[in-house]
Amino acid sequence: MTERKQVAPVLMADSPAPDVSIVVPIYNEVESIPQLYERLTGELTALGVMYEIIAVDDGSRDGSYALLSDLAGRDSRLRVVRFRRNFGQTAAFSAGFDRARGQVVVTIDADLQNDPADIGALLARIDEGYDVVSGWRERRHDPFINRRLPSMIANRLISWATGVHLHDYGCSLKAYRTEVVRSIKLYGELHRFIPAIASWQGVAVAELPVRHAARQFGTSKYGISRTLRVLLDLLTVRFLLSYATRPMQVFGLFGFLSMVAGGVIAIYLTWIKFALGAEIADRPLLLMAILLIILGIQFLSIGLLGELMVRTYFETQSKPIYVVREELNQAPTDAVARRG
Ligand code: UDP
Ligand code: MG
Repeated sequence: MTERKQVAPVLMADSPAPDVSIVVPIYNEVESIPQLYERLTGELTALGVMYEIIAVDDGSRDGSYALLSDLAGRDSRLRVVRFRRNFGQTAAFSAGFDRARGQVVVTIDADLQNDPADIGALLARIDEGYDVVSGWRERRHDPFINRRLPSMIANRLISWATGVHLHDYGCSLKAYRTEVVRSIKLYGELHRFIPAIASWQGVAVAELPVRHAARQFGTSKYGISRTLRVLLDLLTVRFLLSYATRPMQVFGLFGFLSMVAGGVIAIYLTWIKFALGAEIADRPLLLMAILLIILGIQFLSIGLLGELMVRTYFETQSKPIYVVREELNQAPTDAVARRG
C-alpha cells in the first residue's frame, strides 16, 4: 500500500485508528437514522473490521443532529460533524474525507436506499487491489421520468466524455482508498465524478452491482433540476481532465481556426473589391469575416490568460502536475514533488 501522510484533524485518544471509515451525509433523515445506525454497526461488526462512522449533518432542521449526538454519546466509533447550514451532499462527503482515519473510505446514503450489507463486497474488491469500487444500482427504485431516465442519459454522457466507463455514477455507495479521495478537491455536485477525476491519478476503478431500495422515510432532496447541474459539472470535469494544464491548446485551436477562416474571407473580399471593383460594403460575408477575426483574437487571448492562470494555480501551491506511485533510491532532497 502507498504511504500516506497522517492528517487527522480530530484525534480521539480512546479509540485506535480504524481500518474503514464510513461517511454518511445526512440532511433531514431523522426517521431513517435509528435503523441506519443499527444496520451499519451490525454489518460492520459482523465483518470484523475496525471501523468508524462519520456522520455529517448537512444543516438538518428535523432533529437529526439531536438523535446523532445521543447515539454518539454512547458509541465513540460514531463521529458526528455538524455543518452550520446546508452545504450540499458533495460538501458533506468532502468533510467526511477530510476526517477519515481509515485506509479505506466507504460512502453511503443515510436514507436506507443503499444497503449496508453490500459493504463487505465493496471492501473485498478493494482488497483485490482496486482503488475505487463504485456501486451500480442495477435495479433502481426511484421514479422513472424525473430520476431514472435523466440519469440514464447522464450516465451515458459521463461515460463517453470522461472515458471512465461505469453504468451508474450517481450511486452513493462507493469505496475508495483514502489517499485517492484525500487529494481530490470537490466543488459543486462533483462527488459523482470522483472516479473520473481520480482516473487522472491512474487509479484502478471497479464497478459492483449493489442492492437499492425505495425511500422508506422522508423525501428525496433532489429533482429534475439536478440533471442540468450535473451536465454543467461534466463540462468542467471534461475540461479539467484533458486540458487543465494546457488551456491554450483548446482555446488556441478554436482561435486559430476562426482567425484563418476570417482571414481567408477578408482576403477574398479585398481581392474582389480591388481587382474586380465589386461592392463589398453590403455583403453579409464582410460581417462574417469581422466576426471570425474578432472571435479568433478573443479565443487566443483567453487561451493566453488560461496559461497564466494554470501557472498561478500550480506554482503558488507547489502542486505537481503528475502523481507518483512510488520511487526507488529516492534522494532526500526530492521532497517538493511529493507534497500533495
Ligand atoms: N443529502 C445531504 N445534503 C443535501 C442533500 C442530500 O447530505 O443537501 C444527503 C441525504 O440526506 C441522503 C443523501 O444525501 O443521505 C442522498 O440524498 P437523497 O436520498 O435525497 O438523493 P436521491 O437518493 O434521491 O438521489
Ligand atoms: Mg436517496
